[in-house]
Amino acid sequence: MARRNFDVKGIARERILELFKQAEDQFNKHSERSNKYVKMALRLAAKSGIRMPKKVRRSYCRNCKSYLVSGKNSKIRTRNGKLVVSCLVCGSHRRMILKPKF
Ligand SMILES: [Zn+2]
Repeated sequence: MARRNFDVKGIARERILELFKQAEDQFNKHSERSNKYVKMALRLAAKSGIRMPKKVRRSYCRNCKSYLVSGKNSKIRTRNGKLVVSCLVCGSHRRMILKPKF
């Protein structure tokens, strides 16, 4: 493998996870900052051509880009084996399929 090529996608991924960690840290004190971190992470993902890491895909609203914390500004319910995440900021819902393995 060419060692000169940086692992751009790997770096972007780490950076995104880092931004979400900061968003989590800031949420209680400055929730508007959390949203800024989410937007930065999304921009980074778009620029580097990667998808958002699975881990954080549930942590933000695709509609209004708010950082979501369940019980604070989002509701998570399961229905028919599907996960329904509601954003209480803009009122949008997202459905996600739960892994059938338990
Ligand atoms: Zn929303």
